[in-house]
Parts: sequence; C-alpha cells; structure tokens
Amino acid sequence: MFKIGSLFSGSSGNSFYISNSRGIILIDIGRSAKQIENSLKANDLNPSDVHSIFITHEHLDHVSGLRVFIKKYSPKIYGSLGTINELLSKNIINQCDNYHEINVNFGIDLEDIFVKSFRISHDCAEGFGYTIEFKNSKIAFCSDLGYISENVFNAILGSNIVFLESNHSIDMLKNGSYPVFLKERILSHKGHLSNGACAGILPDLFRRGTTRFVLCHLSSENNTPEIAYQTSLKSLQNHGLIENKDFEIRVAPKESMGKFKILI
Ligand SMILES: [Zn+2]
Ligand SMILES: [Zn+2]
Repeated sequence: MFKIGSLFSGSSGNSFYISNSRGIILIDIGRSAKQIENSLKANDLNPSDVHSIFITHEHLDHVSGLRVFIKKYSPKIYGSLGTINELLSKNIINQCDNYHEINVNFGIDLEDIFVKSFRISHDCAEGFGYTIEFKNSKIAFCSDLGYISENVFNAILGSNIVFLESNHSIDMLKNGSYPVFLKERILSHKGHLSNGACAGILPDLFRRGTTRFVLCHLSSENNTPEIAYQTSLKSLQNHGLIENKDFEIRVAPKESMGKFKILI
C-alpha cells in the first residue's frame, strides 16, 4: 500500500511524502528538520525511513530543513543541476552529501517507484515539478510556477492525483498590502499560479483522467482555503461535473500534523 500526504504547504513551508513498505520519499523539505520529524511522526512515519528527497527548487520555503535533516539521516538528494548548484553555493548541501542531478529527460527508477521531472517557469535557477508513478498510478506535484506551459500540461496529464498550486486570488493580491514589485513578481510568468489559472486547467486534466485534485501552496496573505476551493469547484461544476461523484478536491493545509493523507 502507498500512502501519500502533505506535511506542510504554503509560503511558510512545503513538504509532501510518498511512503510504502520500502520507505519514504519526500518532495521538498521546507520547514525545520525538527518540524518535519514531528510531522512525519504524526503520520506514523519514521524519519529514518526517508531514503530520498526530491527538491523542486532552492527557495527557502522548499529547503529550509534540508541541511540539518541530511546530517542526521543521510538520504539521497535529487534536483536539477541548477538547483543542486544553488544548494551547494549556499552551503545547504556540501560535496560529501549524497546528491544527484536529474536530467529532465530521464526518470529515476527507485525499484517500485518511477520519478520523472519537468521544468517549471519560476524565478529560481532551474525549477522542477515531479511525477511519481507506481503500480498503475501516477501522481503529479506541480507548484511554484507562473503559468502552465504546454510542456507542464503534457507532463502531468493522465495523473490520477494532481497536487497543483492555487497560490492567490488576483483581486486579493492586487488590493493587498504587498509592495508593487512583489505583486508584479507573483503575477509574472516566473511567479505563482493564481486560483483562476489553477481552476481553469482542471476540466482539461479531468478529461485526461485526473479525478483527485489537491490545491497547494496557498498564500496566507492573498488567499483563503475557501476561496481557492470554491474557484476550482465552480470550474469543474461549470462543465457539468459533480463533486464526490466525478471528482474530489482537497486543499492541502498549512500544517497537516497527520491529518492529510491519501491511501492507494
Ligand atoms: Zn519558489
Ligand atoms: Zn514556494
């Protein structure tokens, strides 16, 4: 049995896990090592079973626990060449750590799990999203992107479950207190995906087989879980689809403490 869950999600830290009898994979580790340990334990998972960490990009809300966690548990670290170089130059990892650069055209075969990366457009060195394939299932993790390119869409289509960024309400952002340069950065093609952009792609993903959507990386300033959820819900309902019959939408909480898991 595979267990998939969200430990943390949002601008204050991101980390997801996939676990089975062979161990645990993390996607990002954007809280302190202690918080990650506690959250894993709240999910009845043992931090020492983490054998691989896939990093999407070098921003702190995705890597802040990495340095301390790998000192203690020595898992393999995977990321793009650009991300690995950033982590090295910031001394988050060093030459003797067990890190591996992923070429975007090749997947990583972890025996019963196959991980593939795809490029995302974001203001970082070389950001990746990931798809995880096992048994007959495919799960996509796709956040921190300014827009959904054709390349991103092709990478995630056919996934049973898609974790997709629903970062902000454009109205809340535009009328909010962020400085203009930050608003422009978030709204740019190298920024973050709005609720509307996220919701707009869901019917297309549904048509290609996705029935479970997890909205993630919500801004705590410029969004609420209810607004993000309603925007995506309406988009699917407008296509005649029925919640909990045709599809399911969940919002990854800021801190799940063991309360967000999906069993496959
Ligand atoms: Zn980022
Ligand atoms: Zn982020």
